[in-house]
Amino acid sequence: MAHCIVPAAEEILDKEFKVLDKGFVRMVDYYGSDSRIVQAARVSYGEGTKTVSQDGALIDYLLRHQHTSPFEQVVFTFHLKMPIFVARQWVRHRTGRMNEVSARYSIMKDEFYVPELSCISKQSSDNKQGRGELFDKSQAEEFQAAFCAGQKKSYEVYKDMVDKGAAREIARINLPLALYTEFYWQMDLHNLFHFLKLRLDSHAQYEIRVYAEQILEIIRTVCPMAVSSFENTMAKSVTFNGEEMEALRCILNGQKNPIQDEKKLKRFNEKIKTGIQL
Ligand SMILES: Cc1cc2nc3c(=O)[nH]c(=O)nc-3n(C[C@H](O)[C@H](O)[C@H](O)COP(=O)(O)OP(=O)(O)OC[C@H]3O[C@@H](n4cnc5c(N)ncnc54)[C@H](O)[C@@H]3O)c2cc1C
Repeated sequence: MAHCIVPAAEEILDKEFKVLDKGFVRMVDYYGSDSRIVQAARVSYGEGTKTVSQDGALIDYLLRHQHTSPFEQVVFTFHLKMPIFVARQWVRHRTGRMNEVSARYSIMKDEFYVPELSCISKQSSDNKQGRGELFDKSQAEEFQAAFCAGQKKSYEVYKDMVDKGAAREIARINLPLALYTEFYWQMDLHNLFHFLKLRLDSHAQYEIRVYAEQILEIIRTVCPMAVSSFENTMAKSVTFNGEEMEALRCILNGQKNPIQDEKKLKRFNEKIKTGIQL
């Protein structure tokens, strides 16, 4: 089969999808599609099923059984613009390849992330890495103004140093993590699914989650069957350990739940009721 061209993907290729207040996701290129996945898989399984519904079933089978290499045959290149603190989390995904704007070479723009009032929350009491309830409006407005004032001040100092001839690599060092950066990022679908599983999760920070959500919608145009299978098999799934499986068996047999420990019971109930893996 020749080079894959997917009409729905061609329509959005190169288009900037806005994320946060000043960021974006843009799909620069894609290589492969649903048909490339099944084509690659059939190399190992031989000629056989051919219809669209059978293609969907094959993709689903591959993902369910973690036969992941056919998904590596689909590759994406994105142009991303995001605050540096989001990029810090992003680059932990080592299986991506990136090239970022150089603040040693370029003069950084006066572009900082300012969280909306609805994002300025208190520290969560039960999740050490998360947000809890919102502040009242006037407190949130005060914090928002403080973000803006700090950003303005640090950019003024940066610009002043640059204007006075300081090396860009030294002038930049006091710029905050809220500064926007840009990079090209390439990843194959297998590793992208792993990235999305982690970063679409409710435990991921909101500011990276919104990028993951946008990427999911973009890649849906390229490989809708694989994305649908990912949502069912990976994104909306939870795993049960041995003790929890035993509890499920007991409950299905009309017996008492053997899990007594309060924390373990909370985790188990949360998975069943909300699909959230605590
Ligand atoms: C909610 C959340 C909270 C987090 N909190 C923190 C934190 O507090 N501090 C922190 O430092 N990080 C934190 N992380 C980052 C996290 O620990 C991972 O580094 C990140 O999610 C990337 O995952 P990964 O290594 O599986 O992905 P990738 O780097 O894309 O790797 C994919 C897979 O390839 C394999 N692999 C890649 N490189 C290697 C290697 N060198 N050796 C062996 N196997 C490899 C592994 O199987 C890995 O799962 C957090 C992530 C999440 C989602």
